[in-house]
Amino acid sequence: MPDAMVAASLSEATSGGTTQQVDVAVVGAGFAGLYLLHRLRKAGFTTVVLEEADDVGGTWYWNRYPGARCDIQTIDYSYTFDPELESAWKWSEKYATQPEILRYFGFVADRYDLRRDIRFHTRITAATWDQAAERWLLTTNEGATVSCRYYIMATGCLSAPKPPEIDGVKDFKGEVYFTGRWPHEEVKLAGKRVAVIGTGSSGIQSIPLIAEQAAHLTVFQRTPNFALPAHNGPAPADRVALLEGDRASYREQARWSLAGVPWPQQMAVSWQLSDAERRERLDEAWAKGDLVYILTQLWADQGVDVDGNALLADLIREKIHETVKDPETAAALTPHDHPFGAKRPCLDTNYYATYNRPDVTLVNLRQEPIKSITASGIKTDERTFDVDVIVFATGFDAMTGAIMAVHPITGRGGKSLSDVWANGPQTYLGLTVAGFPNLFMITGPGSPSVLSNMAVSIEQHVDWVVDRLIAMRETGFTAIEATETAQAGWARHMADCATLTLHRLANTWYTGANVPGKAQGVMPYTGGVGPYRSICNEVASGGMLGFRLTGPNVAEQCNDGEIVRLQPDVRLVLNMLADMKLPPLESFGAQGARDFLAEFNAARPAGRPVGEVVDGTLPGTDGPLPYRLYRPTTPGPHPIVVYFHGGGWVLGDQESDDPFCRDMCRRTGMIFVSVGYRHAPEHRFPTAAEDGYAATRWIAEHAADLGGKPGPVMVAGWSAGANIAAVTCQLARDRAGPQISGQLLVCPVTDCTFDRPSYSDNATGYFLTRSLMYWFWDLYCSPADRTDPRASPLRGKVRSAARRGCRLRRSHGCRGCAGRAT
Ligand code: NAP
Repeated sequence: MPDAMVAASLSEATSGGTTQQVDVAVVGAGFAGLYLLHRLRKAGFTTVVLEEADDVGGTWYWNRYPGARCDIQTIDYSYTFDPELESAWKWSEKYATQPEILRYFGFVADRYDLRRDIRFHTRITAATWDQAAERWLLTTNEGATVSCRYYIMATGCLSAPKPPEIDGVKDFKGEVYFTGRWPHEEVKLAGKRVAVIGTGSSGIQSIPLIAEQAAHLTVFQRTPNFALPAHNGPAPADRVALLEGDRASYREQARWSLAGVPWPQQMAVSWQLSDAERRERLDEAWAKGDLVYILTQLWADQGVDVDGNALLADLIREKIHETVKDPETAAALTPHDHPFGAKRPCLDTNYYATYNRPDVTLVNLRQEPIKSITASGIKTDERTFDVDVIVFATGFDAMTGAIMAVHPITGRGGKSLSDVWANGPQTYLGLTVAGFPNLFMITGPGSPSVLSNMAVSIEQHVDWVVDRLIAMRETGFTAIEATETAQAGWARHMADCATLTLHRLANTWYTGANVPGKAQGVMPYTGGVGPYRSICNEVASGGMLGFRLTGPNVAEQCNDGEIVRLQPDVRLVLNMLADMKLPPLESFGAQGARDFLAEFNAARPAGRPVGEVVDGTLPGTDGPLPYRLYRPTTPGPHPIVVYFHGGGWVLGDQESDDPFCRDMCRRTGMIFVSVGYRHAPEHRFPTAAEDGYAATRWIAEHAADLGGKPGPVMVAGWSAGANIAAVTCQLARDRAGPQISGQLLVCPVTDCTFDRPSYSDNATGYFLTRSLMYWFWDLYCSPADRTDPRASPLRGKVRSAARRGCRLRRSHGCRGCAGRAT
């Protein structure tokens, strides 16, 4: 009998101490909970939603402070699952107010008759997994319990307010409000002295409106935040036209975009734009009043590179100083401690201008921290402020708070979620946790969630989860649990992604830094909505990779493994190449492959500026060899690195690794000399190796002429270039010089045998396939010569240090070369 029917037949009364039996229990009747209920019901699962509030709305039920609005354009912040619903509702503004959003949820609840399966005023006090029954038992504040096969947390990411952590709140005799728990009745502030503590989105939205009502407003700011004008009004005509022109395509683009709103991937990089062009772009974004636009559309490196970000942040800082008249107040309001976007920026209406009012005071808590709250107001290190009202806009225990702190969750073997997450949340895909079967989270830590348009992420999660439950029902499985391997792999992938962004450089609620004592790490998935969606789809199409599925009458299924083994940037490039559906590179022939590489490289963004780029020639063994020298901006002389490009001894030249050389030159402050060695098949082994050695010798001898430090040089290379670098080291040792200070080998080819794991594990499906490697070897070197240490340096005399192979692999987690002949 299907699970749904069993559960339905067992259902009992819903209150008065009885146990309600359902297939699925959902916590929360906000954006996620409502859609879950609708989909689960349609799929035939008996479902109950448990909600603490007395109505639907979730975060929009609680956050009713003055000025509370959406900060994603509301045409994007809507359900998209039902085109009829879309045409039945029209938003009145670009950024809807909290009351309008709440009306929308009420409208949705009525339209699909959802309230009859929602138990309001119900708080869960404990959730315990019963392994024998393969069900969760939930106890609630109202006495009645719920037994469910699946337990789904639709609790939202920002729904557990953070305590103020300031002494004396209880002593205050005036009124106290929290933005995250604003009263339903009207709060009268007219004629009162009001204090607002906190200048995140909630503070920044409410401060201008509170200032309009209060006799005097004092804002206590610990950390200034970036805020941009919302320019609210009707939804912009161009976006509406785009949506209404082809609604289905617009929605689909949003689903595959990086942030959940259909904007293209920005290709221009900051250093390709002039100062005037960058300013023009910022002014355009400023006039648009769109958070996603300004976070993604100015230049491609704004979110991943400190320097590219600083160019943008500086322009925004100028805007703050243009608006705020008092220079000291302007300086205090200007953020300097985090890259723009690393902390959630805010959309505002008249925020900065509010500080020009005579009845508004800014207190900079970095200069005078709050000592305590007293009966009459707030005492800092330097002053006392008597106030009638204190508004705490101090934020949330984000992402984990609502899941973990709200009630004890006890999984398989009595494991407590609080213990498992003591050092930070661990999840598989942000959806599930190993050790907690049949527990799902919607937009949990480890998913794009708060770094995306939540509407898109919520629908994706709900659809994915409900589709899995349907599939399990069809195949007879009754329990699903993530494996430890999959979860650990996801943590690694999360960290790899976070390393590429600037989020790790800011103390924010994204990282848990806003809650004293909370474990820190970037909690949302930073790899983007579209890539995340494709990963979730891959998990399902790959036989539920990373999950163990069990059921009473079926054999256990466990397709263990990691869903993403590649680093995200490598994956991106490989996916781009895969999308091009190219024939194998080796089928082009040597010249065709070189032409392809040249065309491919011409299309990539220009590399970053360095101090100087000089092209020249140096004497090789049989004539001149070209080189390109990259000099840092810092005063020389600089240490020298002799660099050999990749390309299987067949492709590439001294310019082909240009972005990498520029990047390394900038980061290391060293001169990089990229050598154009001769290629096979025209010049077979040992030409490339001998050219490499000759070039290194000449560069070392002419270090001073090249502006470098005389003395030992370093050698570096990528792939076959790293092979040449490693060989050069041995030749330098055996032929009495030059002196080598070190070698940097990126994915080096160090041996000629093909029995390494990468030749089997990564044989196909990657750009550098096994057959391409065979082809490179065949063109470069006869089988008889391959064991020569000048082709396979691992067979030469190597000391232990040289054996370590790809140094990046150890220090930066590079898995690209995983065993490829290293
Ligand atoms: P928040 O961004 O965490 O801001 C809290 C503010 O309170 C920060 O300025 C923080 O300073 C300050 N603070 C916290 N504890 C303090 C203390 N003990 N003493 C002094 N200052 C203290 O919280 P939020 O403003 O509620 O916003 C949270 C998130 O909710 C937003 O980032 C956004 O994603 C979402 N939100 C969205 C909207 C919207 O427009 N749709 C509106 C509101 C919120 P520090 O920075 O120094 O910690």
